[in-house]
Amino acid sequence: MLRLLIPTGLKEDDLGSHSLAASREALQLLNGIKPFSIAINATFAILFLFLSVWPLAFIYILGLSYHLWLNYCAQIHPEQLPPIIQWSWLVVFIQSLFAVLILGSDAGFQYYLLATIPPSFASVFKPLFYKLLQAVIIIVFFLICDIWFIDYEPYYLHSEELISVFRHINVLGACALLAGVSYAYSQIVMSAVTALRSVANTDELTGLINRRSLTALINREAARALRTQAPMSLVLCDIDYFKRINDTYGHAAGDHVLTNVANLLQGALREYDVVARWGGEEFLLLLPNTDMIEALKVAERLREVVACSHLSFEAQTIPVTMTLGVAVLGDENWHGTLARADEALYRGKNQGRNCVVQA
Ligand code: GH3
Ligand code: MG
Ligand code: MG
Repeated sequence: MLRLLIPTGLKEDDLGSHSLAASREALQLLNGIKPFSIAINATFAILFLFLSVWPLAFIYILGLSYHLWLNYCAQIHPEQLPPIIQWSWLVVFIQSLFAVLILGSDAGFQYYLLATIPPSFASVFKPLFYKLLQAVIIIVFFLICDIWFIDYEPYYLHSEELISVFRHINVLGACALLAGVSYAYSQIVMSAVTALRSVANTDELTGLINRRSLTALINREAARALRTQAPMSLVLCDIDYFKRINDTYGHAAGDHVLTNVANLLQGALREYDVVARWGGEEFLLLLPNTDMIEALKVAERLREVVACSHLSFEAQTIPVTMTLGVAVLGDENWHGTLARADEALYRGKNQGRNCVVQA
């Protein structure tokens, strides 16, 4: 069934991530409407039992069971949720149909259906054909309500006041449903944006922020340093003979070293300093409010932490050292500062590596 519900244009290869995202959407949607759907079904079930409108009491008990079952599925088999939740509007449709047949359209049970159209069109994972079909069925149903049920004599309840109370409850209920679903979709969009932002700004291997993210931070910090005349330092760190580590211990060991060096750097930095993976085996530190004397101390501490780390991979100890070039923001823009840090690093490599060099 899932295959039928996949929007056109998605390739077979996308199925895994697509179904995962669909499950996430369904789960968040369900969480958004859970309190409302359970409360409204339970309230109507009790109300119709109390008023002895047995068919509707039965239908709302079924509706309540359906929603409880959905929540059970969400906990046990979340991956099965998208195809099931797609048909929620049909449950609402059946409930509305019976309520209109029994109480007439004046009671307003059909309004809930209108509230299901916007979220259906908002869903990324429903094919357009499905959305259109749902909208057409609902609109035809509305027309039928207006044409055939306009002067309908309710089968069970004869009090006009009671029917009017139902209409008011249902208008409010439909609005609340729409608000709940819209809110759930806003949460879905927000969590997707957060996830994408995190992917766009994070280096996958080390978990550090990446070059793009640090560039934005340096731009901001450099502008602030210029305005406040506070010092700002950049430290470029490069692992020594990293190619040799890869060649000797394997690429996986190289990755292990990168991840561990990243952790060591992050752990040894001050709270307001930032470290990013700048390139292959290069890390760049941004040290706000830090002059050369202070920056050299920080760099030396980091060099020492890495040199004394004794990283091990598959029972082998891998000696790791790092060379660091330190530069303080001067009159030039920060790209110039970085270029000077790079030159200092290059000199450090020529001086024998495992050292800190001032620009
Ligand atoms: P130097 O001391 O002069 O810096 O020498 P080096 O060997 O560290 O520098 P070089 O530029 O010759 O080699 C860097 C190597 O880093 C080459 C590249 O294959 C490796 N590398 C880059 N990114 C990754 C990665 O994500 N994982 C692993 N395992 N290796 C990487
Ligand atoms: Mg390098
Ligand atoms: Mg290197």
